[in-house]
Amino acid sequence: MTPEQLAAKIRTIPDFPQPGIVFRDITTLLQDAEAFSASIDAMTAPLRGLKADALIGIESRGFIFGAPIARELGIGFVPVRKLGKLPGETISIEYDLEYGTNVLQIHRDALRPGARVIIVDDVLATGGTVAGTLKLVEQLGAIPVAISFLAELPALGGRARLPDGIVSALIAF
Ligand code: AMP
Repeated sequence: MTPEQLAAKIRTIPDFPQPGIVFRDITTLLQDAEAFSASIDAMTAPLRGLKADALIGIESRGFIFGAPIARELGIGFVPVRKLGKLPGETISIEYDLEYGTNVLQIHRDALRPGARVIIVDDVLATGGTVAGTLKLVEQLGAIPVAISFLAELPALGGRARLPDGIVSALIAF
């Protein structure tokens, strides 16, 4: 499937979760077996050959895409989760949302220093969530080698907050 065909599978819902937000709803892509599979294949292809050691998925939609990509690549999956969900010893980062702040956590023993990691999420919007995730990766001494999204919203400028050259998205809205 082409990126345009995949984009057509994503439903647009205006004013969700609040007025003024144009929400890109990936559930309509997920429920289409061919589109979901094609998305995983297309996101995985450029990540092969990076010799990554681990793949980080960002809660919660990053898990949906991240886990099958990790399996395709033959590497382990590491969740970055919202505050209070991980049972072991964690490190935390507070990051800005459009309104207020949020906290993300990762298990302290999830990545070894020098590990090459891929980060996956569904949609790149302002980039705040993935920028916070990058700080967690850095705190553990790991090296981000790719950041992969199904879709990005270029008008929100997220890419400018992320390192050059390692960010990819199949679709832009
Ligand atoms: P960000 O602003 O990049 O930190 O976005 C945080 C998270 O919110 C991303 O993981 C997306 O899943 C989600 N998100 C933000 N804006 C949208 C949107 N307009 N449509 C769909 N998902 C969104």
